[in-house]
Amino acid sequence: MKHLRFLTIFLFALSVSVFPSISTSAPVTPAPAVSVHMALGNPSNATPSLANEDNFLMVKPLFVISYNKSKGGPNWVSWHIDSSELGTFARPGSPFFSDTALPAAWRITKNDYHFAETGMDRGHMCPSADRSHSVANMKATFVMSNMLPQSANLNRHVWASLEDYGRRLVNDQGKEVYIIAGGVGSKGMIKGKVNIPTATWKIIVVIDAGENDLSRINKNTRVIAVKMPNNLDLESSTPWPTFMTTVDKIEEETGYDFLSNLPTSIQKVIEAKEDTIGDQ
Ligand code: MN
Ligand code: MN
Repeated sequence: MKHLRFLTIFLFALSVSVFPSISTSAPVTPAPAVSVHMALGNPSNATPSLANEDNFLMVKPLFVISYNKSKGGPNWVSWHIDSSELGTFARPGSPFFSDTALPAAWRITKNDYHFAETGMDRGHMCPSADRSHSVANMKATFVMSNMLPQSANLNRHVWASLEDYGRRLVNDQGKEVYIIAGGVGSKGMIKGKVNIPTATWKIIVVIDAGENDLSRINKNTRVIAVKMPNNLDLESSTPWPTFMTTVDKIEEETGYDFLSNLPTSIQKVIEAKEDTIGDQ
């Protein structure tokens, strides 16, 4: 292990000396995305270092997570949906499982939410239905590192209706979407392990299905941003657009920088405007 670490440092030093940074007047090329699911950026500059235990980057085949050990859940989850990721399989029951990619002491188990006492569902950030191309993919979304505690009426109704809308954009309107979701605030910890966010937020960037996605996002691109209260008494029939907000406001509350792989001139415009189309 020790030798490996020195070797890594040696190789890194070598790469720096062989490929010195080059100064040029050309436009800045966005940092290469490690995954299509994080093509728009890494909102919290998460890293895959175990020392970074509250902002730990996990690049998974179906989505990317910034994990927070202290909160027992994700800071954010980021994923892309196009028609290739959607199918017609039904939800495969409730096969929740601990994330074995995390150190044992960091893991949340499927029983850690204590629903009977807290009323808090295991709320998927990347929903299983967003990965309905295969049963195996749907099951993979049940990893506990993809969950935040959400009140039943939020998870099963208001939040779910926006999830459904995102898929309809892909299935019925010829779109592909980039989604980032997470929580903010604290209403306490479940058994000292899992933070209950006061609200969960979601950002959806909507573009026509196609290639070279980043270059097709401009100042007119539709961005849906919502922040929904994580309340047990949330009225289940509340339409999701009730909770529309802006990316700027979510950035302010979370301290993250979303869509950071886009030129700042574009971020400035699309992060400041509230969606006007709603559920159509
Ligand atoms: Mn859900
Ligand atoms: Mn931003």
